[in-house]
Amino acid sequence: MLLRRGSRSGLYTVIAVHSTVRGPALGGCRMWAYGDSRAAVRDALRLSRAMTYKAAVADLALGGGKGVIMTRPGEPLSARGREAVLLDFADAVQALGGSYITAEDVGTSSRDMSVISQRTRHVAGLARGRGGSGDPSPFTALGVEVAIRACCERAFSSDSLRDRSICVVGLGHVGSRVAKRCARAGAQLLVADVDRRKRATAERLGARWVSSDEALSAEVDVLVPCALGGFLDHLTVPRLRCRVVAGAANNQLADDAIADLLAERGVLWAPDFVVNAGGLINIAEELEAYNPALARRRVRGIGETLRQILDRAEAAAITPLAAAMELARRRLQR
Ligand code: NAD
Repeated sequence: MLLRRGSRSGLYTVIAVHSTVRGPALGGCRMWAYGDSRAAVRDALRLSRAMTYKAAVADLALGGGKGVIMTRPGEPLSARGREAVLLDFADAVQALGGSYITAEDVGTSSRDMSVISQRTRHVAGLARGRGGSGDPSPFTALGVEVAIRACCERAFSSDSLRDRSICVVGLGHVGSRVAKRCARAGAQLLVADVDRRKRATAERLGARWVSSDEALSAEVDVLVPCALGGFLDHLTVPRLRCRVVAGAANNQLADDAIADLLAERGVLWAPDFVVNAGGLINIAEELEAYNPALARRRVRGIGETLRQILDRAEAAAITPLAAAMELARRRLQR
């Protein structure tokens, strides 16, 4: 782990490299106002580990890492301050000599990646105009749809989404695209977002608007979490009335034991780091000559990966989470 105080900005940056066993550690750069540096370090370590598993399960030649830029709470950055801290972060990336490759994440954009590229070439997620792969969200959304279909095949013996009731929570970059894909496939859609301006999207899609709280206990075939993580815990799982949970949100389980609780209650939960790997698979393509058609084909592979994981979980009477972790560990040992 590399913790530095930037010479230009005076702000702390953290880079955690969890594993380079399968290749350079790729992981986004999160810009966030953490309460203290311990929280920033903890986040970097936790997220870098998740990236290792995500890349291994997606069978990419990449390891897991994460970058964090710690801004000061209540002190928004000026344009010049933002550039200064991005260049500080870029120097830290460069100092790791390619064992870590950065990309965009919460709080950073492809424009920020262009700034970082002034000081290091170990950066992905650049804009399409700059030879990069651009916004990863459409690829993440494609992967989520493929995963929903694989789960429906398991739970309802058909991967068709026609007349399936599907509730998408969070109509952001990924969720709005997933909702559109499901609507196009003929699903009966419910949608929720804390931002009421998203209601217009619901109307356009012919979806029923529900509150986030109603969404949690909606009686639907599939719940698709595309907002924040950590929402599945001992209090919320007993309220679920869906048969399947498959969505893009990172770190959906408050802790790993929640996977057992979901299984006990007959809810098929597709591990988030399998479902939402589409963006990472797309960015990995950028490290070679970027070909969007090939990236889409590889993202569709999430369906087959998930089928294998669900087969193994059934055969060994373990949770999909345990089966996915087993697959990741096997690939990390190989
Ligand atoms: P986003 O910020 O564009 O969208 C999130 C949406 O969720 C926003 O519209 C927000 O208003 C809404 N929201 C927040 N809290 C909510 C709540 N409690 N109830 C209902 N809605 C709520 O983010 P995104 O890029 O679409 O990513 C969504 C999730 O998927 C995140 O957890 C992210 O880490 C994960 N993810 C995204 C990508 C990607 O390619 N963008 C890739 C992998 C994982």
